[in-house]
Parts: sequence; structure tokens; C-alpha cells
Amino acid sequence: TKALSIKDLCKTYDNGTQALKGINLEVEQGDFFALLGPNGAGKSTAIGIISALVNKSAGKVEVFGHDIDTDLTNAKKQLGLVPQEFNFNMFEGVEQIIVQQAGYYGISRKEAKKRAQPILEQLGLWDKRNAQSRELSGGMKRRLMIARGLIHEPKLLILDEPTAGVDIELRRSMWDFMQDLNRDKKTTIVLTTHYLEEAESLCRNIAIINHGEIAENTSMKELLSKL
Ligand code: ADP
Ligand code: ADP
Repeated sequence: TKALSIKDLCKTYDNGTQALKGINLEVEQGDFFALLGPNGAGKSTAIGIISALVNKSAGKVEVFGHDIDTDLTNAKKQLGLVPQEFNFNMFEGVEQIIVQQAGYYGISRKEAKKRAQPILEQLGLWDKRNAQSRELSGGMKRRLMIARGLIHEPKLLILDEPTAGVDIELRRSMWDFMQDLNRDKKTTIVLTTHYLEEAESLCRNIAIINHGEIAENTSMKELLSKL
């Protein structure tokens, strides 16, 4: 089974914009995969469809073999999403936000708190567990997004431009965190980026998306040998 399988995926928005024009993509279990492309290429649209936040116009998406049309509940259990924009309630506490997220997956409060501690510690947020999210710095908010995406222990973690607007020091520590997660927990990771440099230092395989089409789909090694 592939961690992610996308077949002939199309998306035309209501205003007529063709954001995806028949995309095919497979991500192996355990991979660290980059979806690279310029702004407007269709990366966020693809992620939105995979996580069932955006309706697709045509095509098929499977997450660990679970079709998002017919088996969305199981697809969602395997999937963690870290969106680009902060979308938590600014007046809720850090731990509260995570416990609440866990609740959506049927995880008890007690269990959620137990799971949250090591995640918050690793992300340098444990001391802030009782702070309201609006009190956090930009970098801490970003790390909270990651913590929230991991609380149900997804086998596939998708991050949309995780280090956009982040300073170099924090970017490095986020890279380390993602690498540990991929190596130690065997979490399959897909990230979107418009920095080749970021994809290069993290990812084994890469797809380049441009104007809603896959322009290249290869190993990082292969791609770099061509440049
Ligand atoms: P990326 O994430 O690679 O920057 P997007 O998926 O956000 O690309 O956008 C792909 C294309 O779809 C762009 O032309 C963008 O303007 C358009 N688009 C994105 N969201 C919408 C929307 N809600 N309605 C109409 N067009 C959209
Ligand atoms: P800002 O948003 O102003 O960049 P942050 O709160 O993101 O501030 O970062 C504060 C400091 O914490 C930075 O120097 C950053 O490198 C460091 N930091 C980043 N990630 C971690 C982590 N996982 N654990 C501990 N400290 C971290």
C-alpha cells in the first residue's frame, strides 16, 4: 500500500481557475517527499483535497489505501495536516487546543494530555502549555500547529510551507524535528515548499508542480544530478 496515491486529480474552482489539471502522484510509506512549485502552482489546492477541505472536480485520492470518497473516516485517521495559516482560537490555551483536537479523533482527555507532553517538550512548548495561543511568538505558533497535527499519531503528516517566514535558527530546528519524526517514528512526511534548498536538505523524493501539472517526479538525487 502506498502512503498516498493520487490519480488524475483535477480541480477547477467556481471562478473557472484550473488549479489542478490531472495530477498523478504516489508516495511510498516512510518517504520524506517534497511537493515543490512556485506560488499559484496548485500545491495548497492538492493538500486541501487530500485532507478533504476542498472538493475535487475529478480523480481519486487514497491515504494508506483508504479512498477519501468512500472511506474518509479511515483516511483521516492516518493523516495529520499542518496548514500554512494559523487557524486556532487565539484565546485558548496551548494544551487545551491539542486536547480538543485529540477529541475529534475520539482520544480521551487523559490520554491526550499524556500524549501531548512529549510532543510539547520536543517542540519547546511545554513551558507554554497553559499560555493562550495569542501570547505565543510567531515561531511558537508554528510549532503549535505541528504539535496539533501530530496528536492522533498520523502515519502520514502533510505540511504546507512549514517554514515560510521563519528565521534560519528556527527553520533548522524544525528540519531536525521533521527528520527525527521520519526516522524514528517512521512517519511518512509530505511537505510543500517553494525553496529547492529546503526540499534538498530534507527530502528523498520530489514532485515539481507548475500551472497545475506535474513537471517532474523523481528522486532528489536524480534531480540534483540534472541541475
Ligand atoms: P500554491 O499553493 O501552489 O501557491 P494554490 O493551490 O493556492 O497554489 O493555487 C492554485 C491556483 O488556484 C492559483 O491560480 C490560485 O489563484 C487559484 N485558487 C486557489 N484558491 C482558489 C479559490 N478558492 N478560488 C479560486 N481560485 C483559487
Ligand atoms: P520567533 O517567533 O520570534 O522567531 P520563537 O519562539 O520561534 O521566536 O523562537 C524562540 C527561540 O526558540 C528561537 O531561538 C528558536 O531557535 C528556539 N527554538 C526553536 N525551536 C525550538 C525547539 N524545538 N525547542 C526549543 N527551542 C526552540
